Amino acid sequence: MIIKIGKATDNDFIINNLSVSRYHANLFFDNEGGWILEDLNSTNGTFINGVQVLKKKITTSDPIRFGNSEIFFLQDLLHANNDYSEDFAQLKDVYRSYVQEKIKIQSSNQLKTRLLQSLPFAIPGIIGVIIGFLGKGNQTIFAISLCVTILAPAVGIYLGARQASKIPMLLQSITDNFKIKYVCPKCGHFLGEIPWESLLNKKQCPACKAKWTKE
Ligand SMILES: [Zn+2]
Repeated sequence: MIIKIGKATDNDFIINNLSVSRYHANLFFDNEGGWILEDLNSTNGTFINGVQVLKKKITTSDPIRFGNSEIFFLQDLLHANNDYSEDFAQLKDVYRSYVQEKIKIQSSNQLKTRLLQSLPFAIPGIIGVIIGFLGKGNQTIFAISLCVTILAPAVGIYLGARQASKIPMLLQSITDNFKIKYVCPKCGHFLGEIPWESLLNKKQCPACKAKWTKE
């Protein structure tokens, strides 16, 4: 597949600029070399990162200029062919970090919840040991230990429940953020909680037919 770039109207990517040649450059995918931009002996040259080139590999971060045209990026050229593969590839990390964050919150909250609920139950035992050391018959210490024995489990259950109630809120904010980011790069349609690899197998957006793979 070759994306033809130039001023002539039968190009794939048409640039209406006097400094751009009729057939200025070609963009194609080389399985070994990646995306290659090739100048077709244009009058005013092709520039990558400000440096004139004849044939060079380009990445998504390289600013590209044809003659004195405005600056374009790889994605701009690919979109002319309905190719959103480079944009789609970036969603892989969006999905992965969403899953990781979700697991992290759930497991850390479970640990905190369990600790908060179980630690206060240990206190009555400690109090009992203290009473043993201080001697029997001291009513004040006995009263304090009784209060702690009754209150500790209640406090533990309260703190544990409060901690547990934070989980839905945290998960909600992660899910909201995910729904904004995990969308078709062309039409913005939310892709659902579907692993990136499964989507890649579909090869194109079911809503707008944007290509998610180079094929
Ligand atoms: Zn789409």
